Amino acid sequence: MDRVNDTKTALVTGANKGIGFAIAQGLGAIGCTVAVGARDDARRAAAVARLRAAGVDAFGVALDVTSAESVTAAAATVERTAGRLDILVNNAGIAGRTDGGAQDPTTLDLDVVRTVLDTNVFGVVRVTNAMLPLLRRAEAPRIVNVSSNMGSLTLRTGPVMAAYAPSKSMLNSITVQYARQLADTDVIVNACCPGYVATDFTGFSAPRTPEQGAAIAIRLATLPDDGPRGGFFDDAGVIPW
Ligand code: NDP
Repeated sequence: MDRVNDTKTALVTGANKGIGFAIAQGLGAIGCTVAVGARDDARRAAAVARLRAAGVDAFGVALDVTSAESVTAAAATVERTAGRLDILVNNAGIAGRTDGGAQDPTTLDLDVVRTVLDTNVFGVVRVTNAMLPLLRRAEAPRIVNVSSNMGSLTLRTGPVMAAYAPSKSMLNSITVQYARQLADTDVIVNACCPGYVATDFTGFSAPRTPEQGAAIAIRLATLPDDGPRGGFFDDAGVIPW
């Protein structure tokens, strides 16, 4: 299907709440059509309704990033509805089961690691690869991976999280691999950290709002053609690997 106008379409995974919803709202506010990727039908429908009530052109995309079938069907939905994809924000993520808020490496349940990697890393690869043919049809395609500074091997910040933190380190590494592979194309890939944000994820105890957390992802999603590739950023600039 050919596009009949210049409106950009942005798919945000895990867009039904938290930072993902705020990214969807922010991209909608600057004129993007937003594909609301979410795995739960009711939560997805509620998010689409909220976005539309706020004046955003939004449509729902059933998407469980851990399911290859779901991801394939999601790509078909985006193609049918928009014909191409301009922006992909891989935001869906989980911490995995914790023991009192931490994940002790010395007692780690490897099933927790597998579950976390399946969402935070393999999910990004599944979704990115399914969406790449649609991204390649766009004039200035951008991919943003929502990582965490807990994945930084240098900063070593936050509680010990032996499943979650390495999953974000690997996501950062994967981001670099995609950026290198796509270096000769128009597809620009970067990773970001939203900061410490009040969402379900943090028990709503963190200082930053979802809108503040969304800002860096929105900036990377709208980079100019000469913008950075394969970097890791927060609001303050480059985050050390
Ligand atoms: P939330 O828990 O509020 O939201 C997570 C979102 O991911 C939800 O929409 C959830 O859907 C979705 N999700 C989880 N698993 C899947 C799946 N298998 N398929 C599709 N969607 C899924 O967390 P945040 O908004 O705080 O986190 C968003 C991202 O930001 C994550 O990647 C997180 O690691 C990162 N981050 C967050 C920080 C913070 O301080 N909050 C700090 C640093 C990074 P559902 O509602 O169905 O569960």
